[in-house]
Amino acid sequence: MRWKEQLLKLKPYQPGKSTGEVKRQYGLSDIVKLASNENPFGSSEKVREEIAGYPGKFSVYPDGYASELRTSLAEHLGVSEGQIILGNGSDEIIQMIARGLLSPQTNTVMAAPTFPQYKHNGIIEGCGITEILLVNGAHDLEGMAAAIDERTSVVWLCSPNNPTGIHITEEELTAFMARIPDDVLVVLDEAYFEYVTAENYHDSMRLLQQYKNLIILRTFSKIYGLASFRVGYGIAHEDTIRALEPVREPFNVNSLAQAAAIAALSDQAFIDECRRENRAGLQQFYDFCDHAGLKYYPSEGNFILIDLNRNGQEVFQFLLERGYIVRSGTALGFPTCIRVTVGSKEQNDGVIRVIKEFLNVDTAISK
Ligand SMILES: *Cc1c(COP(=O)(O)O)cnc(C)c1O
Repeated sequence: MRWKEQLLKLKPYQPGKSTGEVKRQYGLSDIVKLASNENPFGSSEKVREEIAGYPGKFSVYPDGYASELRTSLAEHLGVSEGQIILGNGSDEIIQMIARGLLSPQTNTVMAAPTFPQYKHNGIIEGCGITEILLVNGAHDLEGMAAAIDERTSVVWLCSPNNPTGIHITEEELTAFMARIPDDVLVVLDEAYFEYVTAENYHDSMRLLQQYKNLIILRTFSKIYGLASFRVGYGIAHEDTIRALEPVREPFNVNSLAQAAAIAALSDQAFIDECRRENRAGLQQFYDFCDHAGLKYYPSEGNFILIDLNRNGQEVFQFLLERGYIVRSGTALGFPTCIRVTVGSKEQNDGVIRVIKEFLNVDTAISK
């Protein structure tokens, strides 16, 4: 068969080990998964109530326009309903953008390391890929702007960046947008938007009024705790959304997911509480790293990239065998690091205790 040639070198997404698998393999009864930046506090009680009493019929197709969710989101965000596109997770919106704009005649610019789906989708569409290395974990926006040429069709920004947690500032983003040709779409992935507390974080909604070539991606998978439902969305100028809409599958967000997202959005007190808890959790990690003399990237997300100066895979394995699943930096472009999702206070204490154990064992061996 005539598969696209580029598919031959692509690997399917490698999900982290499931907790069931790890329990069986290492004979553990408790597993703490701090690998996928899921919300350790779950989701709002309102979601559970909504789903438990869900009145809809399963035999009918979902509302393809997600009207009710759209109205709630537009109100919440202060934009028009026509400025929103819904996705089966923001992953699907990344795919739609790639499908709509990338081809072998174009190229796309992104940071490295960053969220892998930008590159993955670019490769599938067969476009040229230009990766501009991060500087101290932050986007090199100068380098990225300079890399744009007449074939560039999409530029990807991730703020805060996964896996470093470093955000782009308002000043940086404003200056960047002013340099970008208006036929190049800038995708600003704000998957961790609700976790951000930095005062100089960009106000991308304001920039939307000025730039048709900007689309913001957000998701219900992270702080809203609805990763299993798959709901993400894009916000852009109405003309941009109109151009992208035909790429979207007609019934891409299912009915239960729409109901869950509406319920989740209505409980902002839960979101505020999670943001506060996350800040306190990050501080636990900062205190530990500072005390242990470990380098880390200060984070605006719900995860932290810690440099242990050892093979990340080795640290990953040590933690795994003791019941903690984190992400090895090896696959993330930071081979001496691990990325740890910020958990509850107890979970953070637990993983920190095992990292300490690793460091002690490690020093003992090297003596
Ligand atoms: C988790 C994540 C996403 C994907 O979110 P979904 O809405 O679950 O598809 C997108 N971008 C970044 C940077 C992420 O970390």
